Amino acid sequence: RKEIKKLTTGSSNLDNLLGGGLETQSITEFFGEFGSGKTQIMHQLAVNATMPVEKNGFDSDVLIIDTENTFRPERIIQMARAKDLDPDQTLERIHVARAYNSHHQILLAEKAADMAREYRIRLLIVDSLTSHFRSEYVGRGSLAERQQLLNRHMHDLLKFGTIYNAVIAVTNQVSANPAVFFGDPMNPIGGNIVGHTATFRIYLRKAKAGKRIARLIDSPYLPEGETVITITESGITD
Ligand code: ADP
Ligand code: MG
Repeated sequence: RKEIKKLTTGSSNLDNLLGGGLETQSITEFFGEFGSGKTQIMHQLAVNATMPVEKNGFDSDVLIIDTENTFRPERIIQMARAKDLDPDQTLERIHVARAYNSHHQILLAEKAADMAREYRIRLLIVDSLTSHFRSEYVGRGSLAERQQLLNRHMHDLLKFGTIYNAVIAVTNQVSANPAVFFGDPMNPIGGNIVGHTATFRIYLRKAKAGKRIARLIDSPYLPEGETVITITESGITD
């Protein structure tokens, strides 16, 4: 078994909450409503993974499975500059695969292993994990099939993380309205499939002026707690 490594989020507050950062060989799920900062954090993690080891990076390439077409190279360029990295070199190391539907998303995750033979990928992002599944499998009748497919997909992701000692970061959009949230079978609180497979779960909610509150939910060994992060032009900070 390879030694577990930790990837910085860019915020020391959030890193501390996570016991040092996102762990390799686990899945970390960021969930929250639209605009809570999930995609911004994914961009920052991608940049951070490319950073040299001396700067707490993995000096690695990154694979992003983008299901909502929200990857923005311009954002990577801004964040890379803020870290004194060469923006073009950083972009070259971040490989983005668009997933057109849930089936395609599952295939791309399976193909990630092929890619890892060519590139040294130590961070695999799925943004968003759940959007295609939500829109394609609607209604009670398709729930069991959806959860089964999602479960297998997450198992594939976790396997990749274990084999390549990689961080797996996924996002899941949920409603902030409690009536909707608690009726949502893909909400990570309350014994559903996503909730069982993700090892670390972070709930993001909006606060004032670029601030977000990040809350760690039932981690295997870390205490529950919350902290504040900030989204700026330069990226994610305290
Ligand atoms: P989610 O993926 O959770 O729906 P996003 O990660 O897309 O949300 O977050 C969008 C928010 O991030 C914006 O509403 C804005 O507050 C912030 N944001 C995006 N780009 C920038 C930027 N260049 N500078 C500062 N804040 C930004
Ligand atoms: Mg998003």
